[in-house]
Amino acid sequence: MTLKEIIAKKERLILDGGMGSQLINYPEYSGKDPSLLNITHPEIIRAVHKSYVDAGSQLIIANTFDVNPKRYENYAEIIAAAIENAKVAGAPYVGLDIGPIGELMYPMGQLKPETAYEYFEAVVKEGVKCGADFIIIETMIDQNEMKEALSAAKNNSSLPVIVSCAYGKRGRLMTTGGKPEDVVAIAESLGADAVGANCSFGPDLMIPIIEAYKTLTDLPIWAKPNAGLPQVVDGKPVYTTGVEEFKEYMKQIEKIGATMIGGCCGTTPKYIEAIK
Ligand SMILES: [Zn+2]
Repeated sequence: MTLKEIIAKKERLILDGGMGSQLINYPEYSGKDPSLLNITHPEIIRAVHKSYVDAGSQLIIANTFDVNPKRYENYAEIIAAAIENAKVAGAPYVGLDIGPIGELMYPMGQLKPETAYEYFEAVVKEGVKCGADFIIIETMIDQNEMKEALSAAKNNSSLPVIVSCAYGKRGRLMTTGGKPEDVVAIAESLGADAVGANCSFGPDLMIPIIEAYKTLTDLPIWAKPNAGLPQVVDGKPVYTTGVEEFKEYMKQIEKIGATMIGGCCGTTPKYIEAIK
């Protein structure tokens, strides 16, 4: 069975956890650009991926979250290194990670939709060339930017494509106020293989989002919450939801209907092991 078929059959798939929360274990690299570590210190990135593979993650997200032609002239080189790092670490499936471009899109900002599309297209083409197994468009806070990324992914690959948004506390997208129904409408009309939520807050506050998705769509659902809301201690984010509590909430999220489950910021291989 292809990954696309496995996702469509809504088989249980274990995702990975936070990358940044693991890089903290390597203080000598804190403050360095995590995307460039793919090239300068591949052994660190591989070690983090491997810790998740060992914990039971089946879908590993390559370290390409903010890699695009606007931010990095050598984006192609970084993407190639990142995908290679995940493969070498033994990832069963490697995801090309696509985050927001990093500039607000028109009408909130200056970024034109067609320019965003061109950036996303360049990233997708490179990811496909390097052998990614799926595409995860994540932490989206503007459904219109998500739409450009999804179009670029569908027009330039036959890989499974998942779209995942970061919601605010009221269940709306931070920049546009978009709701789960807006996200689902775009996901369905452009042929996304799954729809999801990630980051922003802990699994407790993600429950209503997953419930909303479940009533709105038959698409498979992806859930990757943070380990709680971060509290700033000594200038660093500290996450407050422990492994056991996280696991109990993820059980509920699965019961509601999410089939692809993992963690975002603040989660570690221990969280993934517990979910598994
Ligand atoms: Zn996150």
